[in-house]
Amino acid sequence: MHELSIAESIVDIVHQYVDKEQLSDVRSVRVKVGTFSGVVPDSLEFSYQAITAGTLLERSTLTLERIPFVIECKDCKRNSVSEDGITQCPLCSSFSTSIISGRELQVKDIELEDIEQVKS
Ligand SMILES: [Zn+2]
Repeated sequence: MHELSIAESIVDIVHQYVDKEQLSDVRSVRVKVGTFSGVVPDSLEFSYQAITAGTLLERSTLTLERIPFVIECKDCKRNSVSEDGITQCPLCSSFSTSIISGRELQVKDIELEDIEQVKS
């Protein structure tokens, strides 16, 4: 399962940024998930809970922040949110667009019991 390997990499990132003795203090791991990153949010949350069960990260939860799919049109210079992932400009029908956001999948920050560690 795709989401399972993503959940494993998120756990790896947490291990990389948080000292071993603080792992049990991790409360939440915030992850930016683009609407078109190809990840099923529910499935990712489920996978994370499944692989952290019985580990030091057992009490932590995954907080997903949905990032809309936004395209920028090179012809009319406007940005639009695309609900269906189509990269054609809805305003002028141009295909000369670039993707601004919506494909990302990244750990934004890790929240510990007392202090907050910010990573970008
Ligand atoms: Zn346009």
